[in-house]
Amino acid sequence: MPHDFALLFRAASFAAQAHSGQRRKDADQSPYINHPLAVAQLLTEVGGVQDLELLIAALLHDTVEDTEVSLEEIAERFGERVRDLVAEVTDDKSLPKQQRKRLQVEHAPQLSAGAKQLKIADKISNLRDLSSTSPAGWSLERKRQYVDWGEQVVAGCRGINVALEQQFDQTVQEVRQRLATDASRGDGA
Ligand code: NDP
Ligand code: ZN
Repeated sequence: MPHDFALLFRAASFAAQAHSGQRRKDADQSPYINHPLAVAQLLTEVGGVQDLELLIAALLHDTVEDTEVSLEEIAERFGERVRDLVAEVTDDKSLPKQQRKRLQVEHAPQLSAGAKQLKIADKISNLRDLSSTSPAGWSLERKRQYVDWGEQVVAGCRGINVALEQQFDQTVQEVRQRLATDASRGDGA
Protein backbone atom coordinates (compact mmCIF):
# COMPACT_ATOMS: atom_id res chain seq x y z
CA MET A 1 0.00 0.00 0.00
CA PRO A 2 1.36 3.47 -0.85
CA HIS A 3 0.71 4.63 2.71
CA ASP A 4 2.92 1.85 4.07
CA PHE A 5 5.79 2.77 1.78
CA ALA A 6 5.47 6.40 2.83
CA LEU A 7 5.76 5.51 6.52
CA LEU A 8 8.71 3.21 5.90
CA PHE A 9 10.64 5.90 4.05
CA ARG A 10 9.64 8.48 6.64
CA ALA A 11 11.26 6.23 9.26
CA ALA A 12 14.41 5.76 7.14
CA SER A 13 14.68 9.50 6.68
CA PHE A 14 14.02 10.18 10.37
CA ALA A 15 16.73 7.66 11.39
CA ALA A 16 19.21 9.15 8.88
CA GLN A 17 18.60 12.59 10.35
CA ALA A 18 18.90 11.36 13.94
CA HIS A 19 22.19 9.51 13.26
CA SER A 20 23.56 12.13 10.84
CA GLY A 21 26.47 13.19 13.05
CA GLN A 22 27.44 9.63 13.95
CA ARG A 23 29.84 7.15 12.45
CA ARG A 24 30.41 3.42 12.88
CA LYS A 25 33.54 2.32 14.72
CA ASP A 26 35.48 1.11 11.65
CA ALA A 27 38.64 2.80 10.48
CA ASP A 28 36.80 4.50 7.59
CA GLN A 29 34.11 5.83 9.95
CA SER A 30 31.22 4.64 7.80
CA PRO A 31 27.93 6.55 8.15
CA TYR A 32 25.99 5.13 11.10
CA ILE A 33 22.73 4.85 9.11
CA ASN A 34 24.28 1.98 7.08
CA HIS A 35 23.72 -0.26 10.10
CA PRO A 36 19.97 0.26 10.77
CA LEU A 37 19.38 -0.01 7.01
CA ALA A 38 21.27 -3.34 6.98
CA VAL A 39 19.24 -4.63 9.94
CA ALA A 40 15.92 -3.81 8.25
CA GLN A 41 17.17 -5.36 5.01
CA LEU A 42 18.21 -8.58 6.81
CA LEU A 43 14.81 -8.86 8.45
CA THR A 44 12.93 -8.61 5.18
CA GLU A 45 15.36 -10.33 2.77
CA VAL A 46 16.66 -13.13 4.98
CA GLY A 47 13.90 -13.35 7.58
CA GLY A 48 10.99 -12.82 5.18
CA VAL A 49 9.53 -10.26 7.57
CA GLN A 50 6.61 -8.26 6.16
CA ASP A 51 5.50 -6.68 9.41
CA LEU A 52 5.73 -2.96 8.63
CA GLU A 53 6.00 -1.88 12.26
CA LEU A 54 8.86 -4.31 12.88
CA LEU A 55 10.73 -3.01 9.82
CA ILE A 56 10.19 0.58 11.01
CA ALA A 57 11.45 -0.40 14.48
CA ALA A 58 14.54 -1.92 12.84
CA LEU A 59 15.28 1.39 11.10
CA LEU A 60 14.87 3.21 14.42
CA HIS A 61 16.37 0.59 16.73
CA ASP A 62 19.48 2.55 17.78
CA THR A 63 17.98 6.07 17.79
CA VAL A 64 16.93 6.16 21.45
CA GLU A 65 20.11 4.47 22.67
CA ASP A 66 22.49 6.62 20.64
CA THR A 67 20.77 9.94 19.81
CA GLU A 68 18.53 12.56 21.42
CA VAL A 69 15.37 10.90 20.08
CA SER A 70 12.94 9.85 22.84
CA LEU A 71 10.54 6.94 23.03
CA GLU A 72 7.68 9.48 23.30
CA GLU A 73 8.66 11.03 19.98
CA ILE A 74 8.76 7.60 18.35
CA ALA A 75 5.27 6.83 19.70
CA GLU A 76 3.94 10.14 18.37
CA ARG A 77 5.42 9.66 14.91
CA PHE A 78 5.21 5.92 14.38
CA GLY A 79 2.80 4.54 16.98
CA GLU A 80 2.96 2.68 20.26
CA ARG A 81 3.95 -0.74 18.95
CA VAL A 82 7.01 0.68 17.17
CA ARG A 83 7.90 2.52 20.38
CA ASP A 84 7.53 -0.70 22.40
CA LEU A 85 9.75 -2.65 19.98
CA VAL A 86 12.44 0.04 20.07
CA ALA A 87 12.20 0.18 23.88
CA GLU A 88 12.73 -3.58 24.08
CA VAL A 89 16.05 -3.38 22.22
CA THR A 90 17.31 -0.20 23.90
CA ASP A 91 20.03 -0.59 26.55
CA ASP A 92 20.04 1.61 29.62
CA LYS A 93 23.21 3.59 29.00
CA SER A 94 23.37 4.81 32.59
CA LEU A 95 24.45 1.28 33.60
CA PRO A 96 28.07 0.11 33.43
CA LYS A 97 28.90 -1.62 30.15
CA GLN A 98 29.48 -5.11 31.58
CA GLN A 99 26.12 -4.97 33.34
CA ARG A 100 24.41 -3.89 30.09
CA LYS A 101 26.04 -6.82 28.30
CA ARG A 102 24.87 -9.25 30.96
CA LEU A 103 21.33 -7.82 30.94
CA GLN A 104 21.05 -8.31 27.17
CA VAL A 105 21.76 -12.02 27.67
CA GLU A 106 19.36 -12.29 30.60
CA HIS A 107 16.51 -10.32 28.98
CA ALA A 108 16.66 -11.95 25.55
CA PRO A 109 14.30 -14.87 26.37
CA GLN A 110 11.65 -12.42 27.63
CA LEU A 111 11.61 -10.28 24.49
CA SER A 112 8.56 -10.26 22.20
CA ALA A 113 8.76 -12.32 19.00
CA GLY A 114 9.36 -9.15 16.98
CA ALA A 115 12.15 -7.91 19.22
CA LYS A 116 13.86 -11.32 19.16
CA GLN A 117 14.02 -11.20 15.36
CA LEU A 118 15.28 -7.63 15.47
CA LYS A 119 18.00 -8.65 17.95
CA ILE A 120 19.20 -11.49 15.73
CA ALA A 121 19.35 -9.21 12.66
CA ASP A 122 21.21 -6.60 14.74
CA LYS A 123 23.80 -9.18 15.81
CA ILE A 124 24.22 -10.51 12.25
CA SER A 125 24.87 -6.98 11.02
CA ASN A 126 27.35 -6.25 13.80
CA LEU A 127 29.19 -9.56 13.28
CA ARG A 128 29.47 -8.87 9.56
CA ASP A 129 30.86 -5.43 10.33
CA LEU A 130 33.21 -6.92 12.90
CA SER A 131 34.57 -9.19 10.20
CA SER A 132 34.69 -6.86 7.18
CA THR A 133 35.04 -3.38 8.70
CA SER A 134 36.08 -4.10 12.26
CA PRO A 135 36.21 -1.43 14.96
CA ALA A 136 39.52 0.40 14.89
CA GLY A 137 41.98 -0.87 17.48
CA TRP A 138 40.13 -4.01 18.55
CA SER A 139 42.38 -6.95 19.39
CA LEU A 140 41.57 -10.46 18.16
CA GLU A 141 40.66 -11.37 21.71
CA ARG A 142 38.14 -8.55 21.95
CA LYS A 143 36.57 -9.61 18.64
CA ARG A 144 36.36 -13.20 19.87
CA GLN A 145 34.69 -12.04 23.07
CA TYR A 146 32.17 -10.07 21.05
CA VAL A 147 31.28 -13.14 18.94
CA ASP A 148 30.87 -15.25 22.12
CA TRP A 149 28.62 -12.62 23.69
CA GLY A 150 26.52 -12.30 20.51
CA GLU A 151 25.95 -16.05 20.58
CA GLN A 152 24.77 -15.88 24.17
CA VAL A 153 22.26 -13.12 23.36
CA VAL A 154 20.95 -14.92 20.28
CA ALA A 155 20.59 -18.18 22.25
CA GLY A 156 17.69 -16.47 24.04
CA CYS A 157 16.08 -15.29 20.79
CA ARG A 158 15.66 -18.65 19.03
CA GLY A 159 12.47 -20.44 18.06
CA ILE A 160 10.81 -17.66 16.04
CA ASN A 161 12.56 -17.28 12.68
CA VAL A 162 14.64 -20.22 11.46
CA ALA A 163 16.04 -18.39 8.42
CA LEU A 164 17.47 -15.60 10.54
CA GLU A 165 18.87 -18.08 13.05
CA GLN A 166 20.59 -20.05 10.28
CA GLN A 167 22.03 -16.87 8.82
CA PHE A 168 23.32 -15.92 12.26
CA ASP A 169 24.95 -19.36 12.73
CA GLN A 170 26.56 -19.14 9.30
CA THR A 171 27.84 -15.64 10.02
CA VAL A 172 29.34 -16.77 13.35
CA GLN A 173 31.10 -19.63 11.57
CA GLU A 174 32.47 -17.29 8.88
CA VAL A 175 33.65 -14.70 11.40
CA ARG A 176 35.36 -17.34 13.54
CA GLN A 177 37.13 -18.71 10.46
CA ARG A 178 38.26 -15.23 9.53
CA LEU A 179 39.53 -14.54 13.04
CA ALA A 180 41.39 -17.87 13.06
CA THR A 181 43.04 -16.96 9.75
CA ASP A 182 43.98 -13.54 11.10
CA ALA A 183 45.41 -15.20 14.22
CA SER A 184 47.52 -17.64 12.21
CA ARG A 185 48.86 -14.72 10.19
CA GLY A 186 49.64 -12.90 13.40
CA ASP A 187 47.29 -9.98 12.69
CA GLY A 188 46.68 -8.45 16.09
CA ALA A 189 44.11 -5.79 15.31
P1 NDP B 1 31.07 -2.30 22.26
O1 NDP B 1 29.71 -2.56 22.77
O2 NDP B 1 31.82 -1.14 22.79
O3 NDP B 1 31.11 -2.17 20.71
C1 NDP B 1 30.37 -3.04 19.92
C2 NDP B 1 29.13 -2.32 19.43
O4 NDP B 1 29.54 -1.22 18.62
C3 NDP B 1 28.29 -3.21 18.54
O5 NDP B 1 27.39 -3.97 19.30
C4 NDP B 1 27.60 -2.17 17.65
O6 NDP B 1 26.48 -1.71 18.40
C5 NDP B 1 28.62 -1.04 17.54
N1 NDP B 1 29.47 -0.98 16.33
C6 NDP B 1 29.81 0.17 15.69
N2 NDP B 1 30.62 -0.06 14.68
C7 NDP B 1 30.85 -1.39 14.65
C8 NDP B 1 31.63 -2.21 13.78
N3 NDP B 1 32.36 -1.70 12.77
N4 NDP B 1 31.67 -3.54 14.02
C9 NDP B 1 30.97 -4.06 15.03
N5 NDP B 1 30.18 -3.32 15.90
C10 NDP B 1 30.13 -1.99 15.69
O7 NDP B 1 31.95 -3.62 22.44
P2 NDP B 1 32.31 -4.34 23.77
O8 NDP B 1 32.78 -3.34 24.76
O9 NDP B 1 31.19 -5.21 24.11
O10 NDP B 1 33.53 -5.24 23.37
C11 NDP B 1 33.36 -6.58 22.91
C12 NDP B 1 33.84 -7.57 23.92
O11 NDP B 1 35.17 -7.30 24.27
C13 NDP B 1 33.02 -7.61 25.19
O12 NDP B 1 32.69 -8.93 25.48
C14 NDP B 1 33.93 -7.01 26.27
O13 NDP B 1 33.82 -7.69 27.49
C15 NDP B 1 35.28 -7.22 25.69
N6 NDP B 1 36.20 -6.14 25.96
C16 NDP B 1 37.50 -6.42 25.82
C17 NDP B 1 38.43 -5.45 25.99
C18 NDP B 1 39.83 -5.82 25.75
O14 NDP B 1 40.64 -4.95 25.62
N7 NDP B 1 40.15 -7.10 25.64
C19 NDP B 1 38.08 -4.07 26.39
C20 NDP B 1 36.67 -3.87 26.48
C21 NDP B 1 35.79 -4.88 26.27
P3 NDP B 1 25.13 -1.06 17.75
O15 NDP B 1 24.30 -2.13 17.15
O16 NDP B 1 24.48 -0.46 18.96
O17 NDP B 1 25.65 -0.06 16.77
ZN1 ZN C 1 22.24 -1.95 16.29
